[in-house]
Formats: sequence, structure tokens, C-alpha cells
Amino acid sequence: MKHFLEGLRSGKLYRYFALTILVSVFTANTLQAQKQNQKGKNKEKPPTIEELVASSKKFDGLFEIYQDTVTGKLQMLISENQLNKEFIYFNQVTNGVVDAATFRGAYKEAKVFKIIKYFDQIQFEFQNTSFFHDPNHPLSKSSDANISNSITESQKIVAFDKNRGQYLIKADHLFLEETLSQVKPAKLPFLQFFSFSLGTLDKKKTKVSTIRSYPKNTDVEVEYVYSKSSVLNPGSKAITDARNVSIHIWHSFIAMPENDYQPRYDDPRIGYFTTQINDMTSVSATPYRDLIHRWHLQKKDPNARVSEPVKPITWWIENSTPQNIRPTIKKAFEKWNQVFASIGYKNALVVKEQPDSASWEAGDIEYNVIRWVSSPNPRFSGYGPSFVNPRTGQILGADITLEYASLSQQLNGEKVFEKAGLEWIGQETPMQGEESYTHADHCAFGAFARAQNQFGLMALKTVGGSELDNNKMIEEYLYFLVLHELGHTLGLNHNMMASQFHNLTDINNPKVTETLGLVGSVMDYPAINFSLDRTKQGQYWPTRPGPYDQWAITFGYQDFEHDQDLENLLLRSTDSALAFGNDADDMRWPGKAIDPRVNVGDMSNDAINYAVERMKLTREVAEELLAKYQVEGKSFHELRNAYLLLTAQQHNAAHVISRYIGGVYVDRSFVGQETEKMPFTPVEKEKQKLAMESLATYVFADDAFLVPNELYNHLQKQRRGYDHFGYPEDPKIHQRILAIQESVLKHLLHYHTLQRISDSELYGNDYALPTFMEDLNQAIFSDDIKKDVNSFRQNLQLTYTRQLIELLTGKYKDKFSPRSRSMAISNLWQIKNWVHVPQGNLETIAHKRHLKILIDNALDQID
Ligand SMILES: [Zn+2]
Repeated sequence: MKHFLEGLRSGKLYRYFALTILVSVFTANTLQAQKQNQKGKNKEKPPTIEELVASSKKFDGLFEIYQDTVTGKLQMLISENQLNKEFIYFNQVTNGVVDAATFRGAYKEAKVFKIIKYFDQIQFEFQNTSFFHDPNHPLSKSSDANISNSITESQKIVAFDKNRGQYLIKADHLFLEETLSQVKPAKLPFLQFFSFSLGTLDKKKTKVSTIRSYPKNTDVEVEYVYSKSSVLNPGSKAITDARNVSIHIWHSFIAMPENDYQPRYDDPRIGYFTTQINDMTSVSATPYRDLIHRWHLQKKDPNARVSEPVKPITWWIENSTPQNIRPTIKKAFEKWNQVFASIGYKNALVVKEQPDSASWEAGDIEYNVIRWVSSPNPRFSGYGPSFVNPRTGQILGADITLEYASLSQQLNGEKVFEKAGLEWIGQETPMQGEESYTHADHCAFGAFARAQNQFGLMALKTVGGSELDNNKMIEEYLYFLVLHELGHTLGLNHNMMASQFHNLTDINNPKVTETLGLVGSVMDYPAINFSLDRTKQGQYWPTRPGPYDQWAITFGYQDFEHDQDLENLLLRSTDSALAFGNDADDMRWPGKAIDPRVNVGDMSNDAINYAVERMKLTREVAEELLAKYQVEGKSFHELRNAYLLLTAQQHNAAHVISRYIGGVYVDRSFVGQETEKMPFTPVEKEKQKLAMESLATYVFADDAFLVPNELYNHLQKQRRGYDHFGYPEDPKIHQRILAIQESVLKHLLHYHTLQRISDSELYGNDYALPTFMEDLNQAIFSDDIKKDVNSFRQNLQLTYTRQLIELLTGKYKDKFSPRSRSMAISNLWQIKNWVHVPQGNLETIAHKRHLKILIDNALDQID
């Protein structure tokens, strides 16, 4: 180093360096010049599109796609006349795993996009379709203010053809990564650690499985592979190896339909799926231009009273569908066709069978498919999604997926004795009712209806039913399942009020139900109609659309010459046969919604008495279970399932009854409609009282859930490997019964329920909060204040007391009004008085001391 510095100072080295730099600069300049020369030559001869696609297979259609025959790499051709035009992008899951919330047939999203050229880039820009600006309004000039479009892809143009006006881009990034749509579901970070999760997108393994291109749509199916090196939660058995999980997504680019389709705007009195659009240039309190989802039906002969449509809604029964089921499916289609016939369309729906030799796949959006799958851990048993043009609401395609499990005798959640089969009503309100429940086009119908039907078959077996009854029940069930899912694909959402259509007599009168329908709409989730009196059994399930369906289809599909005709049709909403309320309105979870008539698992306009009858039926069935479910050479597994189904029915009935307490009827008719109903009318006092008395007898009483003791000795699950390892296999009877009672109490003591009882006293509720709270205390304590308290009642009384304490001291205490809190304190005082001097047998004295200590401690903590 010393020599070097000296040399530098002496100038020798300096000269050497200077020379070297000079030479380098010269050389660099020469190279640069040479390069530029080469570039110049390249400019004269850039690679042509033909050269770049020479080794590729061409898929001609809306967009030309090229796939390299050696490397599989994708390129895409875009024509100049496609620039700045709107297209529709749609994607669906063609195969997935339920663990990652992606399952076969699930529709993801339909969005509008434009392709834009920016210098040497081609960009894909998704459009925001949620707002409308009247083009004649000056405000429309600033229609993009604070609304963000989303540029999802920007690719360099690799070649272009000036004469043909074509641009070629690389398309691997577009399709093989999550560019167009998020595939891997997002998870909260703290959940990520424990629950099943996908690895990261493995670009090496991800591949294209199908490319289809037609004049009006281009489809690319991709198998996305998510990999990780080690796995904490291996997922269900459907996952072969959680380190590598595949999800197949079908992407479709669709030409914007060019037709004279006229959007129809939503009305709150009828339930269609909608695309919500806000009118930004309106000053109305309700500036909604929500588009209903419906097919584009046009009469071939517009002047004929009845005409075939120009293009019928054509369905294909997938070749995966069991042969013996196909005739029932076809009949269900025919029933919907009759509805369309009444508004002037002949053969609006056409159903065909997919031949085994068919070369198309169900994912192909050109085909509306009804298919049958048997998947592990199904989330639903029926699913009927459709996708629409976001600009107009026109349905462009639909599918129906039915789970084979809906016909089987398997039981949901059968591993956990105390909760098996109770989950569909929901033990918990999500986030205590704070989180809104969005149903969208998902349908939990199958899981629900299956449990109902399984109970029905069990009841037939125990209280007497012929082979004929059995077949009738299964056929009607299947009929209903298809009618319901088809209804969704026509644009209809749920109508959970429709089971209120008939009275207790008419539901079992086939003359009435076969001509009018068993329920007002097949879009409901009714209880299976099973008559306690076996001489009076009518239809088990609806087998035809009801008056509401007829009305709703008329609203959606009839061409109205004058706006007034449409208005007149809507005026009929006050007719009780056309009553409507959807998932947002139904009371399936504790504390959710307000109108007890809008519910799942109920039946008739006297739903309390219907549920009481169901309670009586379960008691009769329970007596016979042991005798009827002993099959020589078989385990007791099915008997155990039968007991679980039976108690699930009791849970269902209890849930229906409980909603009448503190309930408020909702009416959505507009001012000027012929009705005496008000928007909100509290449930009559007698009905609320009847509900309370029924709960006292069938849910809270010490003998409410008793079954022959010997039955308990036999509630054994069939052993399978080590499956009951870590979970003792004995039946947890008390816990199960308590789970049912608890879910009822959760609703009755929910802050929403107590608030409503209190507020509605101002507008007609005669069942005042103090009376209700006193009745509840009585129902849970009065019968055995002076008697021995049995084990079921001990559980109930303790849980109830804890819930009162929770209300006063728990996490949500501030959500309860001072009035509710005072009444809760009063109830605790009352209980304390009752148990103050404990009497009875040893365990009763122990139980009462327990209660006293709980209350004493709690009263000290109340602030
Ligand atoms: Zn549904």
C-alpha cells in the first residue's frame, strides 16, 4: 500500500490510470456505437407476430390465445378494435378443496374490464360499476371523482402488426398468477397459525389445463398449486398432501352482450338477487338503481299471447347424475315452465341430458349445467349460482350443483355428540350480531333440508309408514331441492316467510297444496311437513312453485306495456299469499332480525302450535327408537344418529317458538297500498304468552327431553380406527340438552331482544319487559322451588343464572339498557330468595347453595 501511494504521488501511476481510463472510454464508446448499430438493424426487423407464435398452438376466438408447444408458455393477441371497449371477466372454481373455501362449482366474480394501450404497454383495467351518473346531468362530467378503477395487468407489447392492427403480449402472468382474481383466501394473521391454510403460489407447478375459445368468449382453466415445505394442520382427508394443494379456476373473458335487453330495477317487496347501483345525480332519499338478475327472454312472436322465446334458457343434466334421479329433475323443470307459460312463454326452460360422449365440460359458460357431486365434507347440498352482466343484471350463465350427501344417511358434525346436527341454526350469532350476514347466492338449503328429511324418514320408520310413504318422501324432497335451486338460477333469492302460507288444516289437504303449493314459495326452508296424526298426512315437501313464485316471476320476466302495469302488480304485495322476507330478515340466529314469521324450519301460519306438535312427535318417536333401530348384524351407529336427529328437531322447534317472544311483524308495503298493516307491529300478547308457556313445557321443564333410559345405553358410534381417540365415546346427554336450552336463552336474553321488548312497548307491545322477565324466571324455577331439582333442571337453572350475571358483568354489559339490567338484578334477587333456605335432597341443597354463592358474588361485582 505504501508503494502504491508513493507511486500515485510521483505521478507514474497517475499516468498509467489516466491512460487506462482513456482506453476504456474509447472502447466503451466503440461498443456502444456498435450496439446502437445493431439496434438500428433490429429496428428495421423486429420480430413479427408470426415468428413469435411459430411454435405455438393457436386457439381462435374472442381473443386469440397461443400456447407454445414446447414450453407451454402463453401469448395473447389483442386487436386494435378491442381497445377501450368493455368486456366481462368471470371466474369460477372447477375443482377445489372445501378446507380452503373453494369448492367445485363455486362462482367467484363477474367484473367489467377494458383493455387500454399505454405507449408500448397493454393494460387490463377493471371498471367500477357501482355508480350511475345521468349523462344529461352536468355532474356526469365529474363522474370519476373519488372512484377508483383497478389496473390489474400491464404487459409490454412484444410484437405488433400494423396492417391488421394486432398486438401480441405474453399472457403467463395474466393467467398463471393471481392477477385477475384472488384465489387463495385471505386469513386473519392469528388464525393462520392454527387453521388449515394454503402455501404460497408455486409458479413452477401452476399450469394451464384447458383453453377454449369461441367467438363470444375465451376461457382458460388454470390449476393453481400452493406449496409449503412443512405443515401444521394437514386439513381434511380430501387433501392428499397439504404441502401441495391444487385449486382449479376457470377464467372467462366474455364479449359485452349487444342486445336490446332492458334492465329491470329492484323493488323491496320482492326478492331478486341484485347488482346494487347508486344514482349519484339523484337527490332522492333512496337513490337506488339496483338491477335485478334475470335472463334475457324475448318472445319469438311478440304479438302472440303465448310464444316460445327467441332463446330458451337451456339446461343440461350432467352425465354424472344418477339415472333414477333424472326423471324427477325433468319434472321440476316442467313445473317452472308452467309458471312461465302463465306469462306467455312456452318452453322458457329446456332441459337436455349430456351424452357420455360430450366433449364440453361443465365449466364451459356456454352450458348451464345441473350436476351431481359427492364431495368430502360438503358445505351445502344444493348450490345454484348464476353470473350476470354487471352493467345490466342480465344473467349470462348458471349452474346447479347438488351434493349426493343430501340423499345419504350421514350426519353433519357427527363426531361431537353434544353439538352434532345443531349447527345449521347457528349456536352463535356471528360477533354477537355485529357482523352482517351476507347470503349472496350461497344456499345452505341442502344441509338444512337433509336433516329435516332424515328426521322424516326416521319418523316414518318408528311411528309407522309404508314403503310407499318412504318413496314419496324421498321423491318430494328431491323435487323440492331442484325447484329451489332452479329458483335461484332464475334470479330469486330466499323467501323465508313463505311457509306461513296455509293454516294447520290446509297444509295436510292435498287438494289445496297440489293446486296452490304447500308453501307460498319454494325459496323457503320450511320444516318437513310431517303430521302427528298419521291419518291426515298431506305432502311432505313442496312440489310446485307457490303464488309468491308466480308473482315474482311475473315481476321479473313479463314485458309490461305501461309502467303502471308493473306498479299495479307490485300493489298486490299486501296479499298474505305473497308475503316475503329473505335471509337478512330471518331469525335463524340468536338476536338476529325481528319478524318471527320469517324463519327457517317453521311451517304454517300457526308456527308455534306446529312446533309444539313436532315436540310431541319427537316424544312418540323416542319411545320407539330402540325397538326400530336394532338391525341384526349391524352396530348401533344408526340408532345414535337417530337420537341426534331427534334432538336436533327439538332444537329446531324450540328455536321457532322462542322467536315469537319480543317479535315484531314487518310489513314493507308502500304508502297508499290497500292494507291496515303498519311497517312494524309487535306480536300479539297472547302469542308471546303461548310461546313462553310452550317453552316452559317443552324446553325448560324437568321432563322436557326425557327419553327411555335404556336408549342412552345404546347411543354408541361404530368404532373406526382410532377416531374417538382424545374424545371419550360415551354420550354427553346433559351437554347436548343444555346446548339446546342455552341457544334459546341466548336469544331471549340477547341485548337486541331485550331492547326490542322494551322499545316496542311504545308502539303496541303488551308483553312488557317486567312481565316477560318474571315469566322467564318462573318458567325456569317455579316448578321445583319446593321439590328436588333433577340434573337437567340443575344445569338449566345454573346456566340461566350465569347468563343473567353475564348480562350484568360480562363483556357486553354496556349493550344492555339500564331497564334490562335492573330486571336482571331483580330476577337474581328473586332466585336468591328462593334458594335462601335450601330444602330437598342432598344434591338439591348443594345445587341451591351453588346458586346462592354465584349470586352473592355477582351482586358484589355489579357496577
Ligand atoms: Zn337457497
